[in-house]
Amino acid sequence: MNFDWLTPAWESALAQRRRQHHALLLHGPAGIGKSAFAQALAQAWLCEAPLADGAACGRCVACGWFAQGNHPDFRLLAPAAAEEAEAADGAEAGGRQPGRAGAKSAKPSRDIRIDQVRALERFVGVGGHRGGCKVVLIDPADALNAAAANALLKTLEEPSGATRFVLVTDRPDALPATVRSRCASLALPMPQAEAAIAWLVAETGADESSARTWLAAAGGAPLRARRFADPAESATHRLIMETLAGLPETGVVQAAEALTGIEAAVWLGVLQCWVADLQRVRAGAGPRFFPERAGRLGALARASSPAALDRLAMQLSALARAVDHPLNPRLLIEDALLRVRAALAG
Ligand SMILES: [Zn+2]
Repeated sequence: MNFDWLTPAWESALAQRRRQHHALLLHGPAGIGKSAFAQALAQAWLCEAPLADGAACGRCVACGWFAQGNHPDFRLLAPAAAEEAEAADGAEAGGRQPGRAGAKSAKPSRDIRIDQVRALERFVGVGGHRGGCKVVLIDPADALNAAAANALLKTLEEPSGATRFVLVTDRPDALPATVRSRCASLALPMPQAEAAIAWLVAETGADESSARTWLAAAGGAPLRARRFADPAESATHRLIMETLAGLPETGVVQAAEALTGIEAAVWLGVLQCWVADLQRVRAGAGPRFFPERAGRLGALARASSPAALDRLAMQLSALARAVDHPLNPRLLIEDALLRVRAALAG
């Protein structure tokens, strides 16, 4: 396991190999390595010459197929949107689309749909190609829409014995209780800051101070923070920050102009962190996401009221729930920024 902070969970998951839970729910905060953990676990289960501790050997024919993404006894269930993004990325692990929209044509589904689950029933129904177990990875499991989750229940209820499921989610509460109750659950933790910074420095070659800033901006999640090592991601993030920090003095139209073309989920996510920091500073705590902007946060927070900031945070949460398909992205930006200006005006 490449992530030190997941080592205890990794050892525990490998130890469960013999206990034959046929479904395992991996949950924990976003950006800590859950997907990589789940992939490594699936590979370990499929490996035909596992190491003494149960981890995959990385050398057998099964490991070779797995690495190439064509092991016949493995299925990954992901939203069509994620699969297409990965294909566009050249399927390079760890590659991520930068936050700027643009190359998107038709909107692929962000749900895991019922036809995907039905296709799985056939896979589960037949014997494995290699005589070992079969593995189904569902990532993120909270993308299962209601019909798909229902269809999955049937498959989870009738384990053919040879198929093991791994479900991955940041939001276990978003899964139907009926699905959760059929899974053994394993919580993956957020790392301590120092461990995450050490990993970021080793991973990106950045200096410790940059790593610390990125980690804070990512709310402590190291894999999210790593995205800032990409100059395009970093530039987009800086642009969003400069724009938000300029409010309310910058006009709403000018600020909206700067954010136009950036994916709504991206700028809105940063805005929510900014407001969360304003709330913390207003309450006398230190900023969590943007410690390097403590001065500006303090000045803005003093001019505002706790009630106005709380109201703003709730309004932004409501916008975030509807952000996947904005009818008019520009109007969404202006709407959000007008609310920010109103809150900061006291
Ligand atoms: Zn192997």
